[in-house]
Amino acid sequence: MIQNKGNIGVTTENIFPIIKKFLYSDHEIFLRELISNAVDATQKLKTFAISGEFKGDTDDLKVNVILDKDNKTITIRDNGIGMTADEVEKYINQIAFSGAGDFLDKYKDTANVIIGHFGLGFYSSFMVSSKVEIITKSYKENAVPVKWECDGTPNYSLIETEKTEIGTDVILYIDEESEEFLDKFKLEGLLTKYCKFLPIPIIIGKKTKWEDGKEVVTDEDNQINDVNPLWKQKPVDLTSEQYESFYRTLYPGNFEKSLFNIHLNVDYPFNLTGILYFPKITSNLDIHKNKIQLYCNQVFVTDSVEGIVPEFLTLLHGVLDSPDIPLNVSRSYLQSDSNVKKISSHITKKVADKLFEIFKENREDFEKKWDDLKLFIIYGMISDEKFYEKAEKFFLLKNVDNQYYTLEDYKTKIETNQTDKDKKLIYLYASNRDEQYSYIRAAKNKGYDVILFDGQLDLHFVNTIERKFENTQFVRVDSDIVDNLIKKDNKIESVLSEKEQENLRNAFQGALQDNSKFWVICDNMSPNDMPIIIARDEFMRRMKDMASMGGEMYFYKDMPDNYKVILNTNHKLILDISSKLEKKTSTKRMELDQQMDELSSKKAELENKLKEYKTEEEKPITEKTTLEDIENQIHELGHKIEDTNKDFGKNNKVVSQLIDLALLANNLLQGEALSNFINRSVDILNK
Ligand code: ADP
Repeated sequence: MIQNKGNIGVTTENIFPIIKKFLYSDHEIFLRELISNAVDATQKLKTFAISGEFKGDTDDLKVNVILDKDNKTITIRDNGIGMTADEVEKYINQIAFSGAGDFLDKYKDTANVIIGHFGLGFYSSFMVSSKVEIITKSYKENAVPVKWECDGTPNYSLIETEKTEIGTDVILYIDEESEEFLDKFKLEGLLTKYCKFLPIPIIIGKKTKWEDGKEVVTDEDNQINDVNPLWKQKPVDLTSEQYESFYRTLYPGNFEKSLFNIHLNVDYPFNLTGILYFPKITSNLDIHKNKIQLYCNQVFVTDSVEGIVPEFLTLLHGVLDSPDIPLNVSRSYLQSDSNVKKISSHITKKVADKLFEIFKENREDFEKKWDDLKLFIIYGMISDEKFYEKAEKFFLLKNVDNQYYTLEDYKTKIETNQTDKDKKLIYLYASNRDEQYSYIRAAKNKGYDVILFDGQLDLHFVNTIERKFENTQFVRVDSDIVDNLIKKDNKIESVLSEKEQENLRNAFQGALQDNSKFWVICDNMSPNDMPIIIARDEFMRRMKDMASMGGEMYFYKDMPDNYKVILNTNHKLILDISSKLEKKTSTKRMELDQQMDELSSKKAELENKLKEYKTEEEKPITEKTTLEDIENQIHELGHKIEDTNKDFGKNNKVVSQLIDLALLANNLLQGEALSNFINRSVDILNK
């Protein structure tokens, strides 16, 4: 007759309070642990049946979860190998727990839940129970059934009991704080979360159905799991419909179809199965909602796989199943684990290979999916050197006409026409087809091609490529006038003199409302180009854009927007304004110019005189002050000349009209300025 009482062999006397305290946030894992044990027991029995050690029947292996609300118990019942009294002594009392004791000791003070995934196994049941009983009968011939009992102190009892079937019942007497687990829906929810794909049936009660407005219990077992999930099956046996339907099972709230999937199946040098889906991203919000689920032998472990798969692939969906990923360690340790590293690079390689395969075998399909794939691929290319090397072959550039080119093909396409005078290859891009329409058209008229970069990460990609490719630069179409985007030698001359250009600049500057934002310059474009073009400096704009995405360059974010207002000094309208300006201001200017000439010659005279003195001290004070005075007058006169030009600009309707048209073309004309423009336009038409 077995009748034992004793002390559980743990190193720390009070291990139970510690278990409770440390696993606080993850109490629910007791269910996963107990069911895993139960499943293991059935799998072992199957193995013994195959080896002949067990002669009985193994056709109906299963785990039953029995909820008894009245007695406040949850029983986990399996028909696996069971345990003899000696085995209970060995496995339960002597606990495979000394490791856990050390572990808990070490981390007692860090209230961190690194421990969350620690396989506390059977003892995690004490997180939710005031008492636990094990009633078990071993598969071994003539095994005596035993009952073990422990109330959460290190004292236990072990006695003989009655049990006909082989297998184990673990009975949890749920404590007061954990009564939430006595809720049927809560329990079912947890089972679905952790056990959805376990390899033997997990049953909780019977199925119910609705009859005459009432819920009635049927005879059918309420099995919550799929014992043969798709990732465990052979890819050749599966249809694309099955993959899609599995995708929906994984993410019931997701109605989009996946773009394609990758079925992983590795058994050397590590064990890994799984299916990864490339999702169709409909909005930014979706990206992180559905996550890759990590399983260990079909037991759900976590859906935070950072550290196990490379960061850019955390955007994918699907499942990974591997017994080789250490789960009882911190994230930082994970990243240095060699198995994990191998798994991570294997997944990266598989993903790259699959993409290349689709690219090669069905380019048309690949192009169709490109816009959805691009985000992952760019993310991978900028963050993972190995992936970059592979992706270089299938990365596509899309131009504003929706044509797709590989990096190599695109280079060949633009090489002759878009190399500048310094042998630099210039890639032109637009970030918005509509907003930059006129610039795109100007570039196309020149025979240039324009890439469409309207994605979230495109700008990062530009930086990466510029670093990788020698003598290459990306320039946004609206960052300058078309002739300056790709600088060539054959620059057109202006018909205006330097002086006339200066006057013109002043006149336009005068007409611009917000002077500090706009900076007027003259450039010699073709007479057929627009009279005024507004551009944003590529460098500053890029810095600001990058800063707005966050990161180190955030300080650029608050820099004001600056625009170049470029006057086409070969356009008829600008030439007309220039000649009017010269004519209208000529009398006044002649007078001012004359004064200026006089002052300048006086200044020169004085300066010559002062040069005769060797040191600063010798120079006579009176002459020095006169010179200073003259210099001030020159300065003031300069302003006066500038102001005459500015006044002209301010009062000239054509100047204002041209500026407003250019602003309008860039979406920069708003509010009062816009309404002034409309009124002025009507006035002009009325004449
Ligand atoms: P682990 O499962 O990590 O080994 P546990 O504390 O969960 O640690 O279990 C200790 C041991 O007790 C198991 O290895 C197994 O031998 C035995 N055991 C636990 N539950 C069962 C069960 N339901 N049926 C048979 N043996 C069990």
